[in-house]
Amino acid sequence: MPMQSIFLQDTLRILKRAIEIGGFDKIIYDYLSRPMRVIAVSIPVKVNGSVEIFEGYRVQHNNALGPFKGGIRFHPEVTLEDDMALATLMTLKNSLAGIPYGGSKGAIRVDPKALKTNELEELSRGYVRALYSFIGPDIDIPAPDVGTNPQIMAWMVDEYSKIVGKNVPGVFTAKPAELWGNPVREYATGFGVAIMAREAWKNLFNGDLNGVKVAVHGFGNVGKWVAYWASKMGAKVIAIADISGTVYDPNGIDVEKAMEIVSKTGKVVNYPNGQKLSPEDALYVNADVLMPCAIEDTIRADNVSRVKAKLIVEGANGPTTPEAEEYLTKRGVVIVPDILANAGGVIMSYLEWVENLQWVTWSEEETRSKLEGILTNNFKRVFDEYGKIKREGITMRDAAIVTAISRIEKAMKLRGWI
Ligand code: NAD
Repeated sequence: MPMQSIFLQDTLRILKRAIEIGGFDKIIYDYLSRPMRVIAVSIPVKVNGSVEIFEGYRVQHNNALGPFKGGIRFHPEVTLEDDMALATLMTLKNSLAGIPYGGSKGAIRVDPKALKTNELEELSRGYVRALYSFIGPDIDIPAPDVGTNPQIMAWMVDEYSKIVGKNVPGVFTAKPAELWGNPVREYATGFGVAIMAREAWKNLFNGDLNGVKVAVHGFGNVGKWVAYWASKMGAKVIAIADISGTVYDPNGIDVEKAMEIVSKTGKVVNYPNGQKLSPEDALYVNADVLMPCAIEDTIRADNVSRVKAKLIVEGANGPTTPEAEEYLTKRGVVIVPDILANAGGVIMSYLEWVENLQWVTWSEEETRSKLEGILTNNFKRVFDEYGKIKREGITMRDAAIVTAISRIEKAMKLRGWI
């Protein structure tokens, strides 16, 4: 493939490293380094009275394990190659999550904030009209990603249902709770990250989270729920941060109060107690567990020596650079990687899909307990693999990707693809 984006190159490098560590045959790399199907579409929408054509994609990477599954991104700079990288990562993430899905990803090159609500609705419906014959509850099941949300899923599920002439709730996930969605979805990713912290701490340090000092960097959809559930599990949340700054209180932060203040004022620094520091200072406080839940490239070669935590659980995607990970691994710090730690959202999507296929509704508690069961089991599988291949420089990220590839390899062998 000529002219690959940096993101796609990095993704293929990660894949290649795991193929080598796991001792897989080259044919596995040949399959997983390219998508099974790439679809590009043009979507005309009337914007401010005149027609504009938007470019959209759906990359269906691999479906050895089940229907393709992955989000739809609305972003002005998204490229087809980035979408290919994201679809590859979904194949690995879904395999690792132990759910019966392959991987895909979709995108539209658009700044959703620049459109009026009716234009955004028309664009969302147009995407479905352009792609409906390639998606479906047992073909490819999209969900939200950056720039899309449950309302957009509601328009999309409505458009798909109108085209096929019947209600099909299972074709999109992360729909509003009032339209075939599930209330757990709102906090599923953050809940999952907290569960991973609990399991990692138990396996590495032989204890529960009671009194364990935790710092959470980023206080958006993922970070606030990580802090909430970690504190419910007994942890002492000593630092939280968003773009406005860090709140540091060695005596512990009242997370629910902080959530209330952020929802009212938009800034964690309006929390009344504790010291107010710069946004990145949450990374350097004297915490046992650090959970980066903001953006990519947060822990880098230039600041990693200031990180004191002995366990890092990645809520965000790509918060630790490879150089920083190498440094931390040498120092004995364990990182629970994003692909494992932040999979709560996609596992919740799977549960919602199972509900939709049977037209049943589970209670919030029942759903959460199913989610917790899957997450705990996933941690164990990766941790066991990590123990098995433990060699100098091998990380839990390597173990996670090897675990993901082995499941796909087995399915491809059984199907006779290799
Ligand atoms: P969000 O926009 O809701 O929240 C991001 C938070 O990070 C905000 O509090 C923001 O103020 C803070 N932030 C941004 N830059 C910062 C900086 N330099 N220093 C300190 N804080 C900073 O986003 P989100 O949905 O919570 O996603 C966060 C990360 O988790 C992203 O990497 C995303 O890809 C990943 N993720 C999200 C989900 C999900 O279900 N939302 C699932 C998997 C992965």
